[in-house]
Amino acid sequence: MMQIFIPLNFLGFVYREMKGSLANIEKMFSLLEVKPAVEDAPGAPELRVTEGRIEFDDVHFGYRPDREILGGITFTVQPRQKLAIVGASGAGKSTLFKLLFRFYDTTGGRILVDGQDIRTVSQESLRRAIGVVPQDTVLFNQSLLENVRYGRVDATDAEVMAAIRHAQLAGFVQQLPEGAHTLVGERGLKLSGGERQRVAIARALLKHPPIMVFDEATSSLDSHSERGILEALRQVAREQTTLVIAHRLSTVVDADTILVLDEGRIVEQGSHARLLAQDGHYAALWRLQQEERGRAEIDAVQEMSS
Ligand code: ATP
Repeated sequence: MMQIFIPLNFLGFVYREMKGSLANIEKMFSLLEVKPAVEDAPGAPELRVTEGRIEFDDVHFGYRPDREILGGITFTVQPRQKLAIVGASGAGKSTLFKLLFRFYDTTGGRILVDGQDIRTVSQESLRRAIGVVPQDTVLFNQSLLENVRYGRVDATDAEVMAAIRHAQLAGFVQQLPEGAHTLVGERGLKLSGGERQRVAIARALLKHPPIMVFDEATSSLDSHSERGILEALRQVAREQTTLVIAHRLSTVVDADTILVLDEGRIVEQGSHARLLAQDGHYAALWRLQQEERGRAEIDAVQEMSS
């Protein structure tokens, strides 16, 4: 089955169009059989993922010929390492992901997965190798169990429950009237942003692709949700190469490498400690977020005591 890798705004559109009558995910994907922007080379072989190493080699890209969005991006993510990408809105973070999925071809340079140029392999095999945790997760009007099972439709109940536990949803499930069989989605229980992301993580754990892409939600989370997501993400990152678009520094701190992107260029690259010591863009961003966090905590305490 095709996995969820469609640009999220498009997915949102399709979901809104269908949510009234949606019976199953297959129907949704049949709607998505639109002509792709890039095509497979004739007889393109399957991508063979042996370790999960990702390399961007001097990647240039623009959506239009007159405006370059990425201006020579070079980095390597080693197998089972975690790369976090930070940067201001419009810096090009999502564009990097779109190129990795090959929604578009680079205009210069190349992207390699385990040494294979992604332009030479079939798109289907490339996308099968990558799991996505999107910012906003689509939930269908079914039980929580079935919603998680979309990660791998032939998974047993026991496997789905294990994924739910690893995604730090067990405590949440315990409180539901019918446990994992409780109906969620539009006509069922509404889940918070943090819970929805953990459902997406559970799906990803079940799919178990060698490469994981996590688009962290920008919306603010309470510290309990944040801890839950972080722990769930650690479970994913232990065994899989993980790329994260990060908005919260808690997600970034333990990354093996942090890329700081600014106007389509990498301005800094390194671990949290190294970047702090460098006292540049990242250190400034860190100080700013620490201050914001401190202010939010003070506000919360004042609100509670008033
Ligand atoms: P954010 O944090 O707000 O999501 P980002 O760092 O992910 O931002 P991108 O979404 O990669 O940034 O966008 C980089 C630039 O490319 C922006 O100037 C954006 O307007 C432009 N852009 C993004 N998608 C398209 C598109 N489909 N067509 C044309 N321009 C685009």
